Amino acid sequence: MIDLSATSLLAKLQSGEVSSEEVTAAFLDRINAVESRVGAFLKVNSESAMQAAQAVDKKRRSGAPLGKLAGIPIAVKDILCTEGEATTCGSRMLEHYVPPYNATVVEHLLASDAIVIGRTNMDEFAMGSSTENSAYKPTSNPWDLERIPGGSSGGAAACLAAAMAPLSIGTDTGGSIRQPAALCGVVGLKPTYGRVSRFGLVAFASSLDQVGPMATTVEDTALLLETIAGHDRRDSTSAKIDVPQYTASVNSPLENLTIGVVPSHYQDGLDTEIESAVKEAIRVYESLGARIKEIEMPHAQYGIATYYFIAPFEASGNLARYDGAHYGYRTDQQTMLDELSEEANQTDGAGESPLVRMYRKSRSEGFGSEVQRRVMLGTYALSEGYYDAYYLKALKVRRLIRADYDSAFDQVDCILGPVTASPAFRRGEKTNDPLAMYLEDLYTVNANLAGVAGISLPCGLTSENLPIGLHLQAAPFQEEKLLKVANMYQSATDWHTRRPEIQ
Ligand code: GLN
Repeated sequence: MIDLSATSLLAKLQSGEVSSEEVTAAFLDRINAVESRVGAFLKVNSESAMQAAQAVDKKRRSGAPLGKLAGIPIAVKDILCTEGEATTCGSRMLEHYVPPYNATVVEHLLASDAIVIGRTNMDEFAMGSSTENSAYKPTSNPWDLERIPGGSSGGAAACLAAAMAPLSIGTDTGGSIRQPAALCGVVGLKPTYGRVSRFGLVAFASSLDQVGPMATTVEDTALLLETIAGHDRRDSTSAKIDVPQYTASVNSPLENLTIGVVPSHYQDGLDTEIESAVKEAIRVYESLGARIKEIEMPHAQYGIATYYFIAPFEASGNLARYDGAHYGYRTDQQTMLDELSEEANQTDGAGESPLVRMYRKSRSEGFGSEVQRRVMLGTYALSEGYYDAYYLKALKVRRLIRADYDSAFDQVDCILGPVTASPAFRRGEKTNDPLAMYLEDLYTVNANLAGVAGISLPCGLTSENLPIGLHLQAAPFQEEKLLKVANMYQSATDWHTRRPEIQ
């Protein structure tokens, strides 16, 4: 059962061949068997998931109308507020934060009768590309436990690859859905900015953040997007645009498909096995009748520099609320007061005020080093004298990147390329080199800067048996087209059916 897609499981649930209780128990058994090696979850809802499954089975027997995901287990990234459940964002800062409300996406899942099976591990506040920045534990890549699963939605990708859940929810600010999906051999879609409500999503960089679906097939991705997308009056950035029935069209190929390829994607630094796999995917599309057109994205090369200003700018503002007074972790008051009085005795002068000391210590102890680096970068670059040089300049470049996409989408339906420059790396390999870590997002950040849609799907394995991802991007609100085009590839290949042998 655990190897079936959500769509196949739904058919079995509907025909009465299996119950949600059986399906949920099968995934919980799998979690018991492999989670200690993978570490994808921060919390597993063993009891409440079984209760919810029984309730859905009962509802089904009663003949009451059921939601789109009735009885299907799903894992949720620990950054979406869930009423009554600790929502930590992988940070000590929020270790004891229990939201009094549900994120809109969580509400959609509950209304669809899905079974929330657990909360997945992530880089602290979604800052990272390896899930090594979680304050709680690293997550392993199920294909090679010594390697990282990507990030920041590393737990969300790893739980799918290890068959611990058939569906999961991730978030993507600069690649955090697509990069881990690529490195774990699963499917992940970053919707257009505004497609999915961000209400109840703990903010990292508000002009870039999007919530999105992760699954093992394109069809399941369509199903989950259909469940969570749509306007929400509680998120003023969510778009008032109808949500198409993605599942109704995902199996019909796109006629007269033109695919754009960008020659500069294939320059130095791209792993040769990834290059061959992506070029092979281009040939698959050609054999399906697609026209391939070379396009230029002249400002793509500035994406990383632009992103690593804009994301920290916004993060430094969003994270200011975690000061030990309003929200989150607070340093031990007595120790702090003792320290201050000892210092006052020694220096016999006024030092730091108790309030400033409390802020400083709470933030130094509550945030990990990558989060502190981002806050400092953002605050520095926004400070007087630097604002124009960094912030305004970054916004101008961002506009040029968007213009590149606009002219590309005048000529092609989708842009095809790699998701990552290399396959999953070993744990610890990039920890001391933040720039190398930032380059993980080379191919993904531009979609966020421009607000377009992007999907990663499996397109090969390296000689070391590590997954390779194929990146397709489409114009804003063209998810329907993106899913169709992705599914054309998936229907012609079987990479998405490969599963790792967990050592
Ligand atoms: N890896 C990128 C970063 O660290 C993107 C993270 C994300 O998309 N949340 O900022």
